[in-house]
Amino acid sequence: MRIIIIGGEAAGMSAAAKAKRMDKNLDIVVYEKSDIVSFGACGLPYYVGDFFDDSEYMVSRSVEATRNSGIDVKILHEITDIDTNNKKVTVKNLSTSEVFEDSYDKLMIATGATPNLPKINATRLKNIFCLKTMEDGLKLKAEVLKNENKEVIIIGTGFIGIETAHAMHKMGKNVTLIGMNEHILHGVFDTEIATVLEEELLKNSIVLKNSESVISIDEDIKLKVITDKGEYNADIVVIAIGSSPNIQFLSNTNISICKGAIEVDRHGKTSDPNIYAAGDCALTYNFVKDSYDYIPLATSANKMGRIVGENLAGVKTSFQGSLGSICIKVMDEGAGRTGITVAQGKELGIDCTSILVKDKNHSNYYTNQEDILVKLVYDIKSNVILGAQIVGKEGAVLRVDVIAAAIYKKMTCKELSMLDLCYAPPFSRPWDVLNIAGSIAK
Ligand SMILES: Cc1cc2nc3c(=O)[nH]c(=O)nc-3n(C[C@H](O)[C@H](O)[C@H](O)COP(=O)(O)OP(=O)(O)OC[C@H]3O[C@@H](n4cnc5c(N)ncnc54)[C@H](O)[C@@H]3O)c2cc1C
Repeated sequence: MRIIIIGGEAAGMSAAAKAKRMDKNLDIVVYEKSDIVSFGACGLPYYVGDFFDDSEYMVSRSVEATRNSGIDVKILHEITDIDTNNKKVTVKNLSTSEVFEDSYDKLMIATGATPNLPKINATRLKNIFCLKTMEDGLKLKAEVLKNENKEVIIIGTGFIGIETAHAMHKMGKNVTLIGMNEHILHGVFDTEIATVLEEELLKNSIVLKNSESVISIDEDIKLKVITDKGEYNADIVVIAIGSSPNIQFLSNTNISICKGAIEVDRHGKTSDPNIYAAGDCALTYNFVKDSYDYIPLATSANKMGRIVGENLAGVKTSFQGSLGSICIKVMDEGAGRTGITVAQGKELGIDCTSILVKDKNHSNYYTNQEDILVKLVYDIKSNVILGAQIVGKEGAVLRVDVIAAAIYKKMTCKELSMLDLCYAPPFSRPWDVLNIAGSIAK
């Protein structure tokens, strides 16, 4: 059985490693167009912000170690076409420009996504960056380390934009964040939670320009970012306005595309029975919505990759589903969410509501007591928990994981109100904020 995997990062390598562990006789080749595999882009903002200085920490397994495990890795090889009728791929060796064909019994597409660029003629200008690949990180950090590069503008107030702002602030830069939405992290956090994070940015002298759209970037003595409301000079511009699945090379195939990504079932199988897909190029099953969504996160890429690996090895497992759980650190604040918001519930026709509770993270006589804000979303009729957003300092973010488990087990708010959560003064209070939220919503 010959398995070809296209893309050698989170989804692709999770599948390859799992399949090989399950069946040593499988002939697995991974084609990866960059020169590394098992690279975790999630570390990039922290590398650029010098939270650590060895870029290799972002690579969890080298090409050599992967080959030693029996997986044939071909770096600097790009798949340019798939012939699904004859089960062949067209491969371009990017080092030699040689083009050749390879045959598969089963194929996995794990090509990820590419950062979107604004429709401006600016990508050729110097010192304009996206943050996606190792190369992006190395180049951006080299510029950030230069003292003369003081002014940084970040376009995009989603996760990557905010994390990059945090990194640039740590590196002593003057940071301006420009986003087209009314609040940062639009669609992820509701206003009450986003506002706490915005206050933290402002407190740290980050200039925040919400509801502002970039029109163009020009180059004068410095880079000049022109928006519908003003002009801003910069030494470095980082563009972080989302990403799009790498599926252009599938245009000659009949593989189904939905919501701009590859349509898969809970086994990761595409509309072609011999082809699987996972990660940022594909849809992911959403447990709460009971439907498929585009959820470009490392968490689901790794898990769906593993599910595909099991299926490639002949064991038909299914993905239990994503909750879209995600978190972020903004200076001293942290925020996380899981499940759905009320707005998303209403779109799905779910009769849901939410409560907002502000309490403390731990006992008042223990040092560093801080506020913690919990928004709990639940089904009005059944009282079942559907989602949560939490913001605060120490101890806030990982409380989201309790709610993720609760959603998965269809727990009610009433049950949460009496859930036996651990307590000691440095960590919580006898009635934890989650108990209180459950109690109010029961
Ligand atoms: C800066 C940043 C921070 C992030 N932080 C977080 C976080 O904190 N938490 C979280 O859950 N997620 C985070 N993510 C998202 C996470 O990194 C992605 O969800 C994850 O990398 C997706 O893995 P993947 O394998 O699907 O795709 P990718 O990691 O994009 O890998 C796809 C690979 O396929 C290769 N490829 C593409 N086309 C071809 C082709 N035709 N032929 C051969 N090879 C090809 C590419 O070179 C690439 O290496 C972050 C992403 C970024 C960019």
